[in-house]
Amino acid sequence: MHEMALAEGVLQIVEDTIRGQNCTRVTAIRLEIGALSHVEPDAMRFCFDAVIRGSVAEGARLEIDTAPGRAWCHNCGHEVALPSLIAACPDCGGFQVQVTGGQELRVKDMEVN
Ligand SMILES: [Zn+2]
Repeated sequence: MHEMALAEGVLQIVEDTIRGQNCTRVTAIRLEIGALSHVEPDAMRFCFDAVIRGSVAEGARLEIDTAPGRAWCHNCGHEVALPSLIAACPDCGGFQVQVTGGQELRVKDMEVN
C-alpha cells in the first residue's frame, strides 16, 4: 500500500510547515488528491490515522479534495477532462493527450492552534 509512504510524506510536510511557528497542535489538514494520482482517499485516511499517532497532528481531521484529471489534446487543440491516464481525448478520440492536471497530491491547507 503506497499510501502509507505518502501519508508519512504528508506528515513530514506538515511538521516542516509548522516548525518554528508558535503552535502546538494541528487540528485539521486539507489534502488535494488528483483523480489520476492513483491515491485512494479511503486508503489515505486509514494510513494517515496510523502515522499521525503520537505526532503533533494526532487527532487531526483529514479533509480530502479531489482534483479532476485534465489534459491537453495535441490532436484537436482542446483542454479536456481526462478520466484516466490511458483514456483517449473525449472530444476527438485521439491519444496524443498530455496530462496537465489531476496527478497531484498536496497539502492545500491546515488548521493549527
Ligand atoms: Zn482531442
